[in-house]
Amino acid sequence: MSRLDFDVAIIGGGPTGCVLALLLARYSAHPERIVLLQSGHASQYGFTPDGDPRVLALNHGSRVLLESLGAWPTEAAQIQTIHVSQKGRLGRTVIRHSDFHVPQLGSVVRYAHLHHSLMQAVEASGVQVRTGLAAQVTMQDATSVSIVQDGQHLSAALAVQADGQPNTPVQRAYTQVALLTRARASLPRKGWAFERFTDQGPLAVLPHPHASDAQSIVWCCSPARAHLLQAMTPRDFSAALGDMFGTRLGTFSVDGSVTPVPLRMNVRSNTIDGRCVAIGNAAQTLHPVAGQGLNLGLRDTAALAIACRDWLADPTQDVGASLNHFKHMRQPDRQLTAILTDSMARTFTSGLAPLEHLAGLALLGMDALPIARAPLARHLLQGLRR
Ligand SMILES: Cc1cc2nc3c(=O)[nH]c(=O)nc-3n(C[C@H](O)[C@H](O)[C@H](O)COP(=O)(O)OP(=O)(O)OC[C@H]3O[C@@H](n4cnc5c(N)ncnc54)[C@H](O)[C@@H]3O)c2cc1C
Repeated sequence: MSRLDFDVAIIGGGPTGCVLALLLARYSAHPERIVLLQSGHASQYGFTPDGDPRVLALNHGSRVLLESLGAWPTEAAQIQTIHVSQKGRLGRTVIRHSDFHVPQLGSVVRYAHLHHSLMQAVEASGVQVRTGLAAQVTMQDATSVSIVQDGQHLSAALAVQADGQPNTPVQRAYTQVALLTRARASLPRKGWAFERFTDQGPLAVLPHPHASDAQSIVWCCSPARAHLLQAMTPRDFSAALGDMFGTRLGTFSVDGSVTPVPLRMNVRSNTIDGRCVAIGNAAQTLHPVAGQGLNLGLRDTAALAIACRDWLADPTQDVGASLNHFKHMRQPDRQLTAILTDSMARTFTSGLAPLEHLAGLALLGMDALPIARAPLARHLLQGLRR
């Protein structure tokens, strides 16, 4: 067999692609035989990595992983308490870091800062980075995968799709748009994150790494309402936000632009296709409620790196067994997280009063009985690990 150009080609230099590159570089004796193919073009949401306005809530496990790779951004806000409530109905629960005996429940970082730290670490790791137009798998056979980027062809023993786009029909197009912005609160509460369920979708108010009184807002609402909100002056938008959220943080004053993001769920039932494997958003794109997407994607990434560790010592061997092991290891966590986020995104917007009351009672029950909220909270905070 003629020697392939690379052992592993990773398509997509978002957070999951970068983390995989760093983990594989650590496990491989030849990191230069790993290539990260990044597109200089905007992502599916229309953002370039440096201009991506997303702010990400990452759990403790994700933070430990990123720190171990030397890629934790310098600016991060801590979450010590999470307050969950429902607008206009009974029910609220509070999850505290002390319930889980951890110093914090999670941290909030900017996508753009995380991406910058990750790219710096990848560039120092020995992995080859190529930036150009979108890379594409053109064919594969029993021993290799062929990929083209900018008219240049390359071959690899394994291709990892980390481009954030599952190639499957959309399973759920939510009738919700997420409006992303930043606001200042007149009565900020250090370390508190809020998830408020409304009849149009969840509203998340998180501590923003920018400043101690800054809040990151992810406001999910109907496309029509989003349209109206976007057309408002900052003052009117701030007042509408206060109406929806309540007065727990005093009054809001929006100090950033408002960016709309359409929401959908796409979960690939099979993440393996011969010598190609999908991770992160390319394997599953979820509703952002409860901030699960990247946390889940990082668990995919760590599992794939571990599954391929022995194979990397001799990449001329068949990679099939490693990929199957990865797929089976990840299936329960992927499915459970997709079901949980999908239900959370829709239960409170069903328009069915009994169901919404029941959900409110469940929140109340969780608040009264720590034992009842522990399994859900633990999954959202840590995921299903094996
Ligand atoms: C509003 C919102 C809020 C969110 N909040 C949270 C949160 O609080 N916590 C959390 O854990 N998750 C959150 N998420 C989810 C999180 O953003 C994603 O799960 C995460 O970005 C996925 O990372 P990724 O690397 O798999 O894909 P992406 O971030 O999409 O990165 C993919 C990269 O691949 C590049 N690319 C695309 N196609 C190609 C190609 N053909 N060739 C080469 N490169 C290509 C793109 O330019 C991009 O840089 C949120 C999502 C949204 C929409």
